[in-house]
Parts: sequence; C-alpha cells; structure tokens
Amino acid sequence: MEKIKTFTLPKLPYEYNALAPYISEEQLKLHHDKHHQAYVNGANAIFTKIDESMKNGTVLDVKALTKELAFNIGGHMMHTTFWENMAPAGKGGGGQPSGAVADLITKEFGSFEVFKKIFSMAATSTEGSGWAALAVHPCIGRPLIMQIEKHNVNVFPNFQILLALDVWEHAYYVDYKNDRAKFVENFWNIVNWDKVNKNLALVK
Ligand code: MN
Repeated sequence: MEKIKTFTLPKLPYEYNALAPYISEEQLKLHHDKHHQAYVNGANAIFTKIDESMKNGTVLDVKALTKELAFNIGGHMMHTTFWENMAPAGKGGGGQPSGAVADLITKEFGSFEVFKKIFSMAATSTEGSGWAALAVHPCIGRPLIMQIEKHNVNVFPNFQILLALDVWEHAYYVDYKNDRAKFVENFWNIVNWDKVNKNLALVK
C-alpha cells in the first residue's frame, strides 16, 4: 500500500466533554478542531508547495519553508502525543504512575511528587507559547524534561517523548484565563499513565 503523503487530524481517543472539569468541552473542541487542524493544514499546504515546485522546476525559499514546516509538523506531532497522553479522570486518567514509568521516575527524581514539581515548574515557566515534556533516549539512562518553545524549539532530537503538556494560551484560556499554573496543577488529574508506559516501551 502506498503511504499517504499528507497529514490528517486524528480523532480524539475520548469524547470532547470527557476531560471536564479539567478541560471543558468548549476548550477541547476549539483546541483540537481549530488549533490542531491549523497545523495539519499548514504542513499540508507546504507539501503542496513542494510538490508544485518539483513539477514546475521552480526554486523554493528553502530556509523559510523549512522553518515553517518544522513549526507545523511540530504542532501536529506534539498535539497528537498530548491527546493520547490524557484520559478521563478516574477512567484511565490521573493517579500515580505505575510499572516501568513509575520505576524510571522514582529512580531519577526520588519520588513522583518531586517529579511533578519539576515538570510543573518547566510547564509554568515556559516563556510565551510552548510545552513541557518528559523524554528518554536509549543512549542515556535517564529521563529528561524538555521545555519546548513554540512546538519545535529546544527539542532534543531523536528522544522519545513519553508525556507532553501544552501550555500555549490556546490550551487553557477558555477555562483558566491567565491562570496557567492552575491548568498545570489540574493536568495531573487526566494523565494517562498507561499510555506513558506504552511510549516508554517503544524505547528499547
Ligand atoms: Mn495547542
């Protein structure tokens, strides 16, 4: 089968109202249907430009297009990870990590509470629009916290992202106004640790 050469917006693995009250239906719908879709469209529009230039033999502004592509692909990939690493509270979301992720966190950070504090600090202190993410790579036996600006700046290449938290204003403004810290605090109620474990299992 030939691979599809464009991106599509993935369906959420739960209903739009499933993450309430921590993320409302209105907030989630806007975030997924409008913002995430825009990154999908943005990347696909650049693919079209590339395809046309190949056909016409025109020369592209590679520097500008590559930068725009990194931003849009970053947006698409980060959001896809983010939706999947959440689940409704009490139905797969929240509580304590288990299994290999729990071991990894305890070994590196001493306790889940300390990890939560550091990850939350990374999320709340991201300048402007960005992400906090927990990532690992098999070449180094420790998990690292990334503080990503936009969707793609300060990413550690080739690291597997286990857990991502979107702290763009568009992720929380409907529900929390300017209170990013409250959003970050509430995020822990909807973390899908099972999925985080599955992400870790990919790194071997
Ligand atoms: Mn977002």
